[in-house]
Amino acid sequence: MRDSSLNFSLLHRTCSLVVLLCFLHIFVTVIYYVRNSDSSQTFVQNQQTPRIHRKLTEQRVSTEEPTPPSVSNVTETEKKLVTCPDNPPRLVGPLRIEFSDPVTLDLVRSENQVLQPGGRFKPKDCIAQQKVAMIIPFRNRDEHLKFWLYYLHPILQRQQLDYGVYIINQDGDAAFNRAKLLNIGYKEAMKEYDYDCFVFSDVDLIPMDDRNIYKCFNQPRHLSVSMDKFSFRLPYTQYFGGVSSLSKDQYLKINGFPNNYWGWGGEDDDIFNRISSKGMSISRPDGMIGRCRMIRHERDKQNDPNPQRFDRIAHTRDTMAKDGINSLTYEVVKVEKDQLFTKITVDVGKL
Ligand code: BGC
Repeated sequence: MRDSSLNFSLLHRTCSLVVLLCFLHIFVTVIYYVRNSDSSQTFVQNQQTPRIHRKLTEQRVSTEEPTPPSVSNVTETEKKLVTCPDNPPRLVGPLRIEFSDPVTLDLVRSENQVLQPGGRFKPKDCIAQQKVAMIIPFRNRDEHLKFWLYYLHPILQRQQLDYGVYIINQDGDAAFNRAKLLNIGYKEAMKEYDYDCFVFSDVDLIPMDDRNIYKCFNQPRHLSVSMDKFSFRLPYTQYFGGVSSLSKDQYLKINGFPNNYWGWGGEDDDIFNRISSKGMSISRPDGMIGRCRMIRHERDKQNDPNPQRFDRIAHTRDTMAKDGINSLTYEVVKVEKDQLFTKITVDVGKL
């Protein structure tokens, strides 16, 4: 009897202990669960709070300022644009220039979709050093113009210029007047944009090296210094024909160009005389960098050598104050805006 009561007591204590352990286990499990669920909620809240906050901030910003269209544009606008470098990084140096395969305007347009109407361009990643108007005196040279546009647009873009191309087309078939067309180009380009530099280029001349930058320098610049036509040499020291550039100040200092050289020759020599009479000198690129090719062609009709040119050149100093941009008269006949250029047809009068 005593044994059985002892056994019962032992069994009772063991059972109590097991029940106690069970309760303890349940208690610990519940505590553990409650704590975990607490901390997981806290974690979600920690994630959500800033998200909600950010959304509110975005909404607030969006009511105060126009919403930027996309994340990449935000970074674009935030990026501070700096002035383009002196040595544009995408220049490639010597270029192969050939005229054997004709090009079409559609091809040139498709390769220059970055252009704004009128043949305008600005670099996207920096602020161009200069705003340059490319002025091309023109009449009946469509085949040459295609090559000029085909080669020059990509070059000028690599040169990181803020530029526009102006084709100044002489109407009618009176004697050609190159220098007057250049003056008209200056005047018409200035009506459109605040250009500070002017490149005056014949339509048939293509640079053979993109390091020959079509911009302005401290002195008036002669850019076509070594032409294939002249065996890659200057024909004479004072030669200023082909392609040249003058800043607005330099151009105005010499009263622009003469208006009364009709037919071929002499007007570039007159411009040289104007420059030197105002105490300026000619800046030129190195002979290798300044190489350029001319598209071969017959002499144009109504552009015979001007017999008066020698006499005129001898008197530049006397005539330049009253013949120039200050005495320019002409009529605009038509303005055409192409993707690749602005073509202005003008009546320049006649001799
Ligand atoms: C003319 C210039 C011409 C040069 C080269 C000179 O005799 O006067 O106008 O650019 O020859 O051809």
